[in-house]
Amino acid sequence: MQFQSLRTASVTGKYILMRVDLNVPTQDGRVTDTTRIDRLKPTIDFLVQQGARTILLSHFGRPKGITPEFSQKFLTPALEAQWRHPVSFSADCIGDAAMSARNAMKDGDILLLENVRFHAEEEKNDLGFAKQLAVLGDIYVNDAFSAAHRAHASTEGLAHMLPAFAGFLMEEELSALNLALGNPIRPVAAIVGGAKVSTKLDLLNNLVTKVDVLVLGGGMANTFLHAHGVKIGKSLCEPDMVAQVHKIKETAAQHNCKIIIPSDVVVACEFKANPQHSICDVTSIPSDHMALDIGPQTVEQIKTILATCKTIIWNGPLGAFELPPFHTATVSLAQFVAAQTQSGSVKSVAGGGDTVAALEMAGVIEKMTYVSSAGGAFLEWMEGKTLPGVAALLKNAKAA
Ligand code: AMP
Repeated sequence: MQFQSLRTASVTGKYILMRVDLNVPTQDGRVTDTTRIDRLKPTIDFLVQQGARTILLSHFGRPKGITPEFSQKFLTPALEAQWRHPVSFSADCIGDAAMSARNAMKDGDILLLENVRFHAEEEKNDLGFAKQLAVLGDIYVNDAFSAAHRAHASTEGLAHMLPAFAGFLMEEELSALNLALGNPIRPVAAIVGGAKVSTKLDLLNNLVTKVDVLVLGGGMANTFLHAHGVKIGKSLCEPDMVAQVHKIKETAAQHNCKIIIPSDVVVACEFKANPQHSICDVTSIPSDHMALDIGPQTVEQIKTILATCKTIIWNGPLGAFELPPFHTATVSLAQFVAAQTQSGSVKSVAGGGDTVAALEMAGVIEKMTYVSSAGGAFLEWMEGKTLPGVAALLKNAKAA
């Protein structure tokens, strides 16, 4: 992938219009998880050290027009604390307010603009709105991989109007994904869990054409078991997905991808924490029980297979991991993948909302090769889709 690297840009004294994703988790007006802010620090440090004038564009939440509770002003103390640098704020991202805040900047300054989604034109990728943003900058940098699956003015339109560069976080995300699916060291295994087949159809259909082994767990494995004629009691299942399951299996066979489904499971009558539970073979799930985790025999089988792999991609928990003890298989396999990664025998890339929470529970976030901070964009990339924000950077690089 050929992007213009920000490292090659001459940024000193220039106005850098940078799209970032500051849509961070909050509670009572305070940031509760600074991961996304922290991951931007290398790009910010570089721009500050080079004496650039950094103007930040972001969205926060899904406001309909100007909505005070979605103002980004409250973010400035968190940015200042994490980046150890003052951050000024403009009450609008376009027009006189933005221009006068911009004109007051000195080399090395950082300015945060108000929520781009206060203007409906942002999500319409409106040309006029993108032009109003573009007048603020000399150079456009996109460091918001997690928003790159949206063709919005600040993520796509702008890239065609100014010299465009990928920020360091964007570069890092893309090279990790390339490592996993673009040009991976084989054999490659994908571990996919989560609740439903229906929400991950595109993902499964793409993965079976790319990986050597697909390990399935979670609720979606029940649907696969059901499609094989296994009686799964009251387990979460999507009977209307059976035809899709058979299609996925056919595609997998055509591409020599082996699909692993559970041979034993942990079952309970109630969907709650610490209910009475037991382990059984998938062929003997009691009719009034639910399979809520994959069983220890399956976990050992998966470990044996993963030990032969060189690349592992992970999305989705293998059981109802929020409810103990149904986190057991997910945590055990996460720790196994982390140990394999640390020993240097495998590259591991994981992402997607619940996956990050599950890996955090297992205490292995820092021990994987890469854990993506992007949710939807990570999934769409794994589905084989072109991300408009990434495509625009590539196009711009070719034109430059
Ligand atoms: P997803 O958003 O599709 O990745 O699904 C994640 C959700 O799937 C989590 O909330 C899990 O509790 C749930 N889940 C995983 N395995 C099961 C299962 N066997 N039965 C019911 N829910 C499950």
